[in-house]
Amino acid sequence: MADRLNASCRCGGVKFSFPVESAGVFCCHCGDCRKAHGNYMAVIGAPRDDVRFEADGTLQWYGYSDKARRGFCSTCGSRLFKDNIGTDLLMVSAGVIDGDTGKQIVKNILTEFKGDWYELPEVHDA
Ligand SMILES: [Zn+2]
Ligand SMILES: [Zn+2]
Repeated sequence: MADRLNASCRCGGVKFSFPVESAGVFCCHCGDCRKAHGNYMAVIGAPRDDVRFEADGTLQWYGYSDKARRGFCSTCGSRLFKDNIGTDLLMVSAGVIDGDTGKQIVKNILTEFKGDWYELPEVHDA
């Protein structure tokens, strides 16, 4: 497998890559993530300084507190990032990665807020 994972939004207005060693997949079941993603959020924690953009012309940020913002494509609406401001990691939506990731779900977060229409996804060792 290559040393970087490539990712893009549905329309290609945002394209980027990040190291394959990035941590995750983490699934957050909080109400905020469910609103943003239409389901629970599945993300990989990429080192912020090593996320390289090939295209970001349609990337837009929605800041909803001074601690967090979400990045999405203003053209196609793909949900791309959860950014916990001030941390070393930029959370990348697992669903926007192109091709195989070699990753598995390693943790469920804030499960007490999960919707009642699904079971928690199975967790595997990292
Ligand atoms: Zn797009
Ligand atoms: Zn959440």
